[in-house]
Amino acid sequence: MKAEEYRRLQAEAMSEKQFQNHVVALAHRLGWLVYHTFDSRRSAPGFPDLVMVRDRVIFRELKASNGVVTPAQQTWLRALQVAGIDAGVWKPANLLSGVIERELRGP
Ligand SMILES: [Mg+2]
Repeated sequence: MKAEEYRRLQAEAMSEKQFQNHVVALAHRLGWLVYHTFDSRRSAPGFPDLVMVRDRVIFRELKASNGVVTPAQQTWLRALQVAGIDAGVWKPANLLSGVIERELRGP
C-alpha cells in the first residue's frame, strides 16, 4: 500500500473527535483562537463546532467522512453565510488535501 493510500484510509476512519483534534492543533499552530462548545446539550441545536478568530473569523462544522450535516446545522451555516461570514463544513478529506491549512493560512 502506498503512503498516500494509507493516509486516505486513515482519514476515512477518523472519528469526528479525532478530526477535530487535528484541526484545532493546526489552527493553534497557525495562531488562531479556537472556540468549541464542549457540551452542546443545553445550547441552540446546529451551531457550528468551531469558531476561530485571527485576522478574521470563520465558523466550521466538522464531520467525519460519513457524517451528514443536519437541517439545524444547515440553517446556521446558511444564516452565517447570508450575514457575510465565512462559514462551511470541513471533512477529513479536506485535511488530507491541504484545503483546511490553505483556508486557515488565508489569502
Ligand atoms: Mg460536527
